[in-house]
Amino acid sequence: MQAAERLEPAVQKFVAAPVRTMLIDGRWVEAASGRTFETVNPATGEVLARVAEGDAEDIDRAVKTARKAFEGPWSKVAPNERERLLIRIAELIEAHAEELAQLETLDNGKAINESRHVDVPAAAETFRYYGGWANKLTGETNPSDPSFFTFTLREPVGVCGQIIPWNFPLLMAAWKLAPALACGNVCILKPAEQTPLTALRLGELLLEAGVPAGVVNIVPGYGPTAGMALVKHPHVDKIAFTGSTEVGKLIHRETAATLKKVSLELGGKSPNIVFADADMEAAMQGALTGVFFNQGQVCCAGTRLFVEAKLHDEFAQQMAKLAAGMKQGPGLDPETQIGPLVSQEQLERVTGYLDIGKKEGAKSLTGGERNTQSGYEKGYFVKPTVLANVKNDMRVAREEIFGPVVAVIPFKDEHDAVLQGNDTLYGLAAGVWTRDVSRAHRVARAIKAGTVWVNCYGLIDATAPFGGYKESGYGRELGRYALDLYTQVKSVWMRV
Ligand code: NAP
Ligand code: MG
Repeated sequence: MQAAERLEPAVQKFVAAPVRTMLIDGRWVEAASGRTFETVNPATGEVLARVAEGDAEDIDRAVKTARKAFEGPWSKVAPNERERLLIRIAELIEAHAEELAQLETLDNGKAINESRHVDVPAAAETFRYYGGWANKLTGETNPSDPSFFTFTLREPVGVCGQIIPWNFPLLMAAWKLAPALACGNVCILKPAEQTPLTALRLGELLLEAGVPAGVVNIVPGYGPTAGMALVKHPHVDKIAFTGSTEVGKLIHRETAATLKKVSLELGGKSPNIVFADADMEAAMQGALTGVFFNQGQVCCAGTRLFVEAKLHDEFAQQMAKLAAGMKQGPGLDPETQIGPLVSQEQLERVTGYLDIGKKEGAKSLTGGERNTQSGYEKGYFVKPTVLANVKNDMRVAREEIFGPVVAVIPFKDEHDAVLQGNDTLYGLAAGVWTRDVSRAHRVARAIKAGTVWVNCYGLIDATAPFGGYKESGYGRELGRYALDLYTQVKSVWMRV
């Protein structure tokens, strides 16, 4: 493939290492067990690199070194210095932007345009934004009895175990590490088994930026072993998790034993609601990117597209036509709009849902199958799919598919749109398209979701909190709300 010739030398070197080791105590080390696992290029199904496979023993080593750093040198680093450190990390990400974008696309499959223009700049921005917070975390003086002086300290939580998914590997690492470090915590990050590479490259940049040994440890490995070891470890103070609702519930149960703090950012089945009075061109664009961005492997994807009944058929047909025209291909091709899914497992999961949809009576207006055109057979490509004839109680409208599949569903009126939109176990996000300002306000309030986009979809920024209602999880990442996840408040009473 021509694209391979365009790879940056640094990327070629990074994937060519016999084993990509893990970061513990500021050093790159093999797994205690000596085991490794493979990460695969989703566009070709070929092995991309071998990675050290961490398990409970490595996690225990990482927790010990993190604890030592937290009690020792890291606690003496001034907030101003933490600010500078985070900004240096942002600058290093920017200096290595093309390299990180290529590595992300190779490991995850996503279109290089998305890696370049979304994942990498947003990761840098997250570090820069939380750099700004590092020296602005203040306590209060409390109006207690005048014979006392009472004040609060906002202190870090301690050792944070951070478990992230494969859909935005570098960006999720940034969402976790940046606020944690700004608040003075230490971290053990477990990247997803499918996509460990950019987190490991970020680890090198963190050391280059001057993050002291033990403050950030990066231990790749499998969820039930490495991940669960973090969840159960008695000296881990907090778990921050992004991934499936199923694993989120498991973590919730398992952490009861140690009562460590938990924040969960889980799945979604977000309603994207188009009223007949909307700007149709904008709504169509929002409907398309809302569900096909990152091959639909997005927790807040607008996978239930509710369209006002009188407009439904025409909108669905037009969407199918545009979806069919999207350029599918390997992520490294700059013309690619829709790449492969992340893994064989995800391919089977998504095509499994397409079969379920068929059995339930849904009709594919376009797509509906794997893309096996010549050259793509070994990759995990699924054609962008528009399903019509869907009812909100079908499995394809209730369960998270996490692929390029949208269910178009008609609604009668505003009341019906809100009723159907809220009829889900999830509550991560929603979209509303209308020219009626009052209706936009009413629907935004009525929808039970952590984010509502009006006349836009999928916008995320370090400044705006993000997280779920209902089974989409709890806790808010980004914005100043993430500081609550990574700090705890102490009251100090002094007799005067
Ligand atoms: P997942 O299992 O929830 O994976 C997310 C992270 O949790 C990974 O790092 C995973 O490790 C880890 N993990 C898995 N089991 C664990 C356990 N028992 N204890 C601790 N950590 C554990 O998600 P998945 O299997 O990759 O994807 C399945 C579905 O989840 C998708 O189809 C999608 O519906 C949903 N999902 C949602 C998001 C989101 O952003 N909300 C992201 C990804 C997936 P491994 O490296 O071993 O996987
Ligand atoms: Mg991979």
